[in-house]
Parts: sequence; C-alpha cells; structure tokens
Amino acid sequence: MSVIIGPYRLSDEFFQKRKLRNRCDGGRCNGDCCAEGVFLTRYDARRIVAVGDALQPYLAEPYDFAQWDFTRSSFMETPVLHRNTSHEQCWFLMRNRHCAVHKYALDRGIPVQDLKPYFCRLFPLSLVDIEINVMELTIDPKAFDTCLVEADEETWVYELLESDLRAAIGDEWYEDLKRRTTDSPARGQWKSSSR
Ligand code: SF4
Repeated sequence: MSVIIGPYRLSDEFFQKRKLRNRCDGGRCNGDCCAEGVFLTRYDARRIVAVGDALQPYLAEPYDFAQWDFTRSSFMETPVLHRNTSHEQCWFLMRNRHCAVHKYALDRGIPVQDLKPYFCRLFPLSLVDIEINVMELTIDPKAFDTCLVEADEETWVYELLESDLRAAIGDEWYEDLKRRTTDSPARGQWKSSSR
C-alpha cells in the first residue's frame, strides 16, 4: 500500500515495522554504497565536469573527463575505478571512503546539493517513477546490502529514514506525513490518500 503525500507517492516499505538500523548514522559511512558508481543526469554530469580539473587532487587516481560524451544519451554513469575487481568503486570515492564531490563542495563553500549527483543525495531512497503530478519514492535495494542492517528493536521505517525523507520530500510534507500517522487510529492504516 503506497501512500500519497502531496506530490509524492511513498512505497509501502516505508510503512512497515522492521528490525533495522542505519549503521551509517552519525557519519560512520564506509562508502560501500559507492561500489558500483551511480547514474548521473546530464545536469549532474555537466556540473561535475565543470569542476573536473579542481576535483583531480581529491581522486585516488586522475580521471580524464574528456571521456564523457554528452552527445549520445540523456543518462550517464559515474566512471568506475578497478572495474570487475573486488576493489571496484565509483571513481569519485576517495581513499578515505568519502565522496570527493561532496568534500570538494564543502571545501569550496558550494551547497552540496548543487554539485553532488541527484541519486547519491537521494540514497538510501530511490526513485521508482515520475508521473505528471506524482513522484514515487522507495528504498534503494542496495541499502539493504550496505547501510541498513539488523537491529534488536522494531521501528517504523519512515521514522528510521526520517532525515532522508525530509531531504527528499521536504520538512513540510514530512510533517504532514507525521500528522496523518499520529491521527490514524492504527498506525500504518491509511484512508483516503492510500492507493
Ligand atoms: S559520486 Fe560520490 S556519493 Fe556518488 S557514488 Fe560516487 S563517491 Fe559515492
């Protein structure tokens, strides 16, 4: 049962109680989710290539941004270093397992959202679909192999992922979600807005 909140449809995974915790909370991310790289919109790619030279000192190995071909497709991917080996990783993952694009933005005082790829900012959430009036969000399956690990206690998934949902749908819609959840006679039972 997905739930519509304003212009967003949230998948039923958010409205389950699960014994899960996010092991990356508190800045303890080890970059496992960056092992395969990520899709880039052309807009993401253009913003990154514009700072390509300045990004080089952050990278584990230099990257030739001239390889990016903007003429062939609307979606691109981050380059992958050590492809098809056990050390495969996004080329932008630094030796300390933090993101070079994110660090570069912080160092230069650039808002991270202005430079970091869209799907990296959304993770551990992911986009299922975009319709004219609704954007559907779910949990990226990769999150269950990386940051979301077993916990002792059950918790509502939308509460566990509160900060990620707030970043994706905004505080106003998250507050609406909370209000409707609190008002619901049995949490997880959704009425007129459910599909
Ligand atoms: S761009 Fe950064 S956050 Fe995204 S996959 Fe690469 S290293 Fe990870």
